[in-house]
Amino acid sequence: MSIFTQEFNILELYTDQMNIYADTGNSTILKKRMELYSLKANITHYNIGDVFPTKVDIVVSGGGQDSSQMEIIEDLLSVKNHLKLLALDSTPMLVVCGMYQLFGNYFQTSTGKKVDGLGIFDAYTIAQDKRLIGNVVANSEAFGKLVGYENHSGQTILGQRATPLAEQIELGFGNDASSKTEGIIYKNTIGTYLHGPVFAKNPKLADYLINCAVTKRMGYEVQLTDDRITKLDKIVEKARKVAEQLQQ
Ligand code: GLN
Repeated sequence: MSIFTQEFNILELYTDQMNIYADTGNSTILKKRMELYSLKANITHYNIGDVFPTKVDIVVSGGGQDSSQMEIIEDLLSVKNHLKLLALDSTPMLVVCGMYQLFGNYFQTSTGKKVDGLGIFDAYTIAQDKRLIGNVVANSEAFGKLVGYENHSGQTILGQRATPLAEQIELGFGNDASSKTEGIIYKNTIGTYLHGPVFAKNPKLADYLINCAVTKRMGYEVQLTDDRITKLDKIVEKARKVAEQLQQ
């Protein structure tokens, strides 16, 4: 079975509501990078009331205002088991800000409304008066320097069993106003506060999810390389440098 005859399925959750700060670009970047690696990929947009797809290789979802999160929460909890099983089965997933918050144990909005989350991440989020806004530079042992943009009132507190995506914040806030951590990773499910879309400035994250999906499908590790990607990432590096300098 050749990897290049397979078709990989990217699932984007709640495209209609969870789509702020260009986060829907993450699924587009995944598809484009997979095509540059000569892989076939398609994107399914899942929205409220849709039938949850059975064949899923990568899941992505973006951020949204409190009101958007309240709009989707009932439907999200109705597909909780699908998403928990995918996470437990180490399916690669990336959820940003508002959806990151809803993948935790609970989320309390700026008006004090408390809703259950999916409980995939050992974390909870409570909105605070101070909004955490601006560019972020965070250092991750696993993924190196991560750059992006944040805008959230929710502050996420990681539980004892949780592993942050980035252990040290160089600039900005990340999870909350004091811990100096950013995001979370559980098996192959990543939560992050970085908008942008995050994959545009952090191709290592995109390639991590792609490699997880390909390895999971093929049953063995595959080293993906392509000159076009190498050229593209040289340009990305320049954008990252600008992003980092802007923040000093
Ligand atoms: N509404 C949530 C908050 O303000 C998430 C915002 C977002 O996704 N950028 O914390």
